[in-house]
Amino acid sequence: QEDIFKKVISHAKEYGYIFQSSEIYDGLSAVYDYGQNGAELKKNIREYWWKAMVQLNDNIVGIDAAIFMHPTTWKASGHVDAFNDPLIDNKDSKKRYRADVLVEDHVAKIEAKIDKEVTKAAKRFGDSFDKDQFLSTNQRVLDYQNKATTILKRLGQSLEKEDLADVKALIEELGIVCPVSGSKNWTDVKQFNLMFGTKLGASADTATDLYLRPETAQGIFVNFLNVQKTGRMKIPFGIAQTGKAFRNEIVARQFIFRMREFEQMEMQYFIKPGTQKEWYEAWKEKRMKWHLSLGMGKENYRYHDHEKLAHYADAAADIEFKFPFGFKELEGIHSRTDFDLASHEKYSGKKLQYFDPELNESYVPYVLETSIGLDRMFLAVFSNSLVEEQLENNTSRVVLKLPAVLAPTKVAVLPLLRKDGLPEIAQKLVNELKWNFNVVYDEKDAVGRRYRRQDAVGTPFCVTVDHQTLEDETVTIRHRDSMEQQRIALSEVKGIIAKEVDM
Ligand code: ATP
Repeated sequence: QEDIFKKVISHAKEYGYIFQSSEIYDGLSAVYDYGQNGAELKKNIREYWWKAMVQLNDNIVGIDAAIFMHPTTWKASGHVDAFNDPLIDNKDSKKRYRADVLVEDHVAKIEAKIDKEVTKAAKRFGDSFDKDQFLSTNQRVLDYQNKATTILKRLGQSLEKEDLADVKALIEELGIVCPVSGSKNWTDVKQFNLMFGTKLGASADTATDLYLRPETAQGIFVNFLNVQKTGRMKIPFGIAQTGKAFRNEIVARQFIFRMREFEQMEMQYFIKPGTQKEWYEAWKEKRMKWHLSLGMGKENYRYHDHEKLAHYADAAADIEFKFPFGFKELEGIHSRTDFDLASHEKYSGKKLQYFDPELNESYVPYVLETSIGLDRMFLAVFSNSLVEEQLENNTSRVVLKLPAVLAPTKVAVLPLLRKDGLPEIAQKLVNELKWNFNVVYDEKDAVGRRYRRQDAVGTPFCVTVDHQTLEDETVTIRHRDSMEQQRIALSEVKGIIAKEVDM
């Protein structure tokens, strides 16, 4: 598993997807830059989300609020007082960890053992293997599962009660060792606030202390009335937003899974108090459908219902994805009640209410939120797509099987040879297609090698112009995943690709 993850990271760099930030200065920890292909993939994921949220829902609109917000925002939201993570240091390595993540990693190792048992059994039983039955009857697997659940439950309960001594006790009981020093010599657990501070204004005495926003949601809450009034929105309605957020994460690792500067895609749905349960269920389902629509395998997703709830929530669930390092949170669905709007009312002294014409009364709406990390989604898509395939002729190929709608480049146009007028026809096709899709032209090396290059970078189609094109205006189109090639008319190219890559 670690090996696969290493391959993901090096492939992302080699093919212009992700670079370490400020690499020539040896980088900055947990900050990354997206390269020429990464920027396209990221943009496409953002658009795929925006389209599903804003374009396809009559009652959801999108905004773009500032990163800087009035400092009282973060008092009202609870972030100044409660946006903390439990921190623990290892006395020998002097390395710092998030106590809850140490425990969760321990549980992930137990889950990996379950996976191993499943793989072993699947091999042994072949076609007759029934995974669900195996999971529910195999004693060893059941023991692992029980152990994992018990640990997570205890962690959840101690965090909820802010019983940090119990979190430490749990770490000691489980015998968790520091990944760097291998020692079990831990300090006490402390709370650590994750917001980055900065200053607005030129002179030291008049400058205002600000925070870089740790989530995009508050930009939506403070604009609730502006949007509702100017858009004449009727409840239920939603406001969507994508944008950067910043958190001074204690341990930032696992590549772009946990970054200090990242992008969120959030939607706050304003509803009538009392209807939160049904909207919570509806959005849990809707968001899972969105994920499944990308075709990355149903078995790679699961829900995790929270026992431990954040200060603002009355119900919360994660959609977890199977990353190379195990199932981890990809998206959160939170029933936030009227916590945010009521609190902003209190701190700002402004009424943040909705007049319901049917009830003929005003109320503070409840909020149902969906919140997904764009970078985390990127990692899910990228790591899931990277495969190494053994081919029949004893060779192998590395393919990035990105969903075609998300691929940075949709088609590569390749003249078979660099002569006989083939490059000119190919260039002409590129010039036609580029109004609709990202296209690349490649005439270097043997065509087989050019195919492999496009496979590795994730281009779903290659179109090859050869001598037959001169005679009958047909080309071959090669499909990345099946490697199948078809002879089609030049005039059909655009339509065939559009059908596969249109969002
Ligand atoms: P975690 O428990 O992993 O720290 P969280 O529960 O604090 O995450 P939320 O505050 O619910 O996360 O944020 C919503 C989403 O934003 C998460 O589901 C995740 O996809 C993304 N996200 C949060 N923190 C980070 C980060 N440091 N780097 C990248 N994405 C993040």
